[in-house]
Amino acid sequence: MQEQVAVAPCPDYVYSHVIKGVMDALQPLGGMKAFVHKGDRVLIKPNLLIAKRPDRCVTTNPAVVKAVVHLVRETGGIPAIGDSPAVGGLRRVAAQAGIAAVAQECDCPLVEFKEVVRVTTGKDYTFRRFELAKAVLDADVVINLPKVKTHSMMLLTLGVKNIFGCVPGMRKAQWHLRAGVDHASFAGMLVELCRLVNPALTIADGIMGMEGEGPGSGDPRHLGLLVASGNPYALDIAICRIIGAPMDKVPTIQAAQQRGFAGADPKQIKVVGHRIKNGEIAPFRLPTRFDAQWNLPGFVKKSLKHVFVPKPVIKGDLCKVCMACAEVCPPQAIAVADKKIGIDYRSCIRCYCCQEVCPEGAVRLRAGWIARFSS
Ligand code: SF4
Ligand code: SF4
Repeated sequence: MQEQVAVAPCPDYVYSHVIKGVMDALQPLGGMKAFVHKGDRVLIKPNLLIAKRPDRCVTTNPAVVKAVVHLVRETGGIPAIGDSPAVGGLRRVAAQAGIAAVAQECDCPLVEFKEVVRVTTGKDYTFRRFELAKAVLDADVVINLPKVKTHSMMLLTLGVKNIFGCVPGMRKAQWHLRAGVDHASFAGMLVELCRLVNPALTIADGIMGMEGEGPGSGDPRHLGLLVASGNPYALDIAICRIIGAPMDKVPTIQAAQQRGFAGADPKQIKVVGHRIKNGEIAPFRLPTRFDAQWNLPGFVKKSLKHVFVPKPVIKGDLCKVCMACAEVCPPQAIAVADKKIGIDYRSCIRCYCCQEVCPEGAVRLRAGWIARFSS
């Protein structure tokens, strides 16, 4: 079966442009009514990673969220906006990201993912148990609104990775701990989580994306596109092609393909809507220290992580000792001594959560010594 991915141009975040862009992206897919029915409780899940202003391009732009709230209501659905930020609490992060103002203006509930439900999966899952936000399970429909960004650990964060926010708060750290240095295992968890949550619709905010050292400290990059699909795996592959990223280096795409998920086969994807000419979009700049080139078994990486896997280093001149990195570090490898942040590299699992959340861009990645030697 072919999976459709629809692309619509949208030059900027002027609301009239965004609502038209979202409608144009949904039109080839049958419009919002193909995904939402009268009376459906619809959970809208933007990317609310950390408290950053919309112009920093870390979070889904509020104009995109507002357009989706409007279209859900117009179709008869009952929208709520929800997420579980990495640090800072939903209200603070949503306020800074401009999404709290949208929720207030639209009189739409803002739901923090606090209450947790344990879910047991079937035999066809590698991961047999997940802990999910109750708000996700209570919804009839989940609409996933990722931001198009690079990601130091997963190369890109798009539709599939955005669903990780459905795991509440610090429970995310447990998944990082379980996967450890083995990024393929973490990617396997992400694709299975996405399968479990099963977002009915994913609309990627690619009007302004982020390239370079994403997902928290990269550079804004104009792309001028909204991309929509009922299939998040197909959407990720289509965006990967659009931004010129190597899909064989994206662990979540690899994990979905290994599992034979519908939408993970590029030959089965049909891109509809706006046509992008060859060479029209210059490739995104990828995270410089991404380590996917070391295609080694997880146990080798684990035992020789200092050799193969980039490590986080703190730029002392930028660090404000806010402790956000220590708060999210899964193995608690970060501590402060003499008013300086230090990392215990023996326990560090190279998850780069510290880099994701650092508000000052003070966490940089340094390649393992083999990579430095070979370059
Ligand atoms: S490295 Fe960043 S997140 Fe960590 S304490 Fe310094 S400023 Fe805060
Ligand atoms: S120091 Fe950073 S990369 Fe290492 S485990 Fe902690 S959060 Fe992850």
